[in-house]
Amino acid sequence: MIAPFNDSTEVIHYISGEQYSGSGTRSQDVFNPATGAIARQVRLGTVEDVATAVASAKAAFPQWADTPPIRRARVMLKFLELMNQHKDELAAIITAEHGKVLSDAAGEVSRGIDIIEFACGIPQLLKGDFTDQVSTGMDNWTLRQPLGVVAGITPFNFPCMVPCWMFPVAIAAGNCFVLKPSERDPSASLFMAKLLKQAGLPDGVFNVIQGDKTVVDALLHHDDVKAVSFVGSTPIANYIYETGARLGKRVQALGGAKNHMVIMPDADIDQAVDGLIGAAYGSAGERCMAISVAVLVGDVADKIIPKLQARALELVIRNGMEADAEMGPVVTRQALERIENYIAIGVEEGAKLLVDGRNYKVPGHEQGFFTGGTLFDNVTPEMRIYKEEIFGPVLACVRVEDFAQAVKLVNDHEFGNGVACYTRDGQVAREFSRRIEVGMVGINVPIPVPMAWHGFGGWKRSLFGDMHAYGEEGVRFYTRQKSVMQRWPNDTARGPEFAMPTAK
Ligand code: NAD
Repeated sequence: MIAPFNDSTEVIHYISGEQYSGSGTRSQDVFNPATGAIARQVRLGTVEDVATAVASAKAAFPQWADTPPIRRARVMLKFLELMNQHKDELAAIITAEHGKVLSDAAGEVSRGIDIIEFACGIPQLLKGDFTDQVSTGMDNWTLRQPLGVVAGITPFNFPCMVPCWMFPVAIAAGNCFVLKPSERDPSASLFMAKLLKQAGLPDGVFNVIQGDKTVVDALLHHDDVKAVSFVGSTPIANYIYETGARLGKRVQALGGAKNHMVIMPDADIDQAVDGLIGAAYGSAGERCMAISVAVLVGDVADKIIPKLQARALELVIRNGMEADAEMGPVVTRQALERIENYIAIGVEEGAKLLVDGRNYKVPGHEQGFFTGGTLFDNVTPEMRIYKEEIFGPVLACVRVEDFAQAVKLVNDHEFGNGVACYTRDGQVAREFSRRIEVGMVGINVPIPVPMAWHGFGGWKRSLFGDMHAYGEEGVRFYTRQKSVMQRWPNDTARGPEFAMPTAK
């Protein structure tokens, strides 16, 4: 068991390469979800703190943007090395504030590190294109330039990985960054800020402002913030997108989800059970790519339900710091109450409760925010437990007759983040991937989070904006294209042309 992180009693901001107390006096409790105890406080930033952070980033921008990409990449390489060195420490920080089990926190850090590694290739990614002789004696090329100060607003469920979807690419591309992490697990952000400094990142290029809506609104309304990346729940994503766009900013806002796994009658049932149990209950269901709906096609229900029921009851639910824990607590008492309230709603709506996770107690951790794995059968599309994102370890099974009904069910849902299909039929798999209206698809892969160079993003009300996070879409989001046409004429006697110029 790794000792919980206990660096300081208050988590503050980080501006110009230093921790910064800020101008405000408001703060909020940060809990250890496994014990339910207050672990520390987080300072909540003010409009003035945001102005200070943005000013610091703006001041650092000209020099950083002018730094050759290969030198920016070298800072990223050093940061990559430091993140790998401190991976276990960072995972322990995440578990202590989020609650997810250590192996899962380590996985999150690794997926974040993948993006840093991708960002190390920025010289290649920023390469423009060039056309020789677009007209006689004239060339045309495109280049991509950084935007300036850009902001990231991130959710509680991946305090390392989701910020890493944003800042490594943004910074490597030559921007300066202000991060507003979740106030529920703020420590990972400061830990990474310190490693960036150690890696040689100039002061002001990466800044952190802790806080809540006050900070978010101040970032949205600040004229010097040129782009906003957001990841969180759908209502807030929608708000960020609309507000940011109205104020002339580039915005990518990733929202909530209700991810389905379709299990076809020909699927390997044991593989599907493994996939479902991990994807529904891993991280206590607090993943935007968690599977919360199992779509059981044809006679699959009779084969799979008894196995799911047995496995949901066997989950090893403990303090995430314990090596054999499979599922830890949820993030806060409010989250626990919301999840258990949804279970009551499901019962009232007439779904069949096969495994009831409510009132789960872990010996020695009676005040911790634990709930067990919950399994419902006979869930129907009108029910709130089907339509709404519960964001907890609750799996809803919906029975359908055939493939067409399964596809229609998924496509009719308002969210379209991730989806999986378990089958052994290549034709079914191909049709599924082509017809499904969801941004990320797994064929016999339960949580298809794309790798660093492919980009992440849902469809429908799971993503507001045009571009996915990270990968080449991320590079495009954090840069703007410029097209240059150039000639060096040696005959100056041509006179003005009044017709639209064409290739000569
Ligand atoms: P959240 O929307 O409550 O918070 C996200 C961020 O927005 C936080 O930094 C928070 O401080 C800020 N915020 C909260 N309320 C705000 C308001 N009224 N105005 C302005 N800012 C506000 O989300 P959360 O509970 O931290 O995270 C869970 C949600 O995030 C789930 O819905 C999950 O599906 C989603 N999520 C989506 C993805 C994705 O890639 N699509 C990834 C991770 C999480």
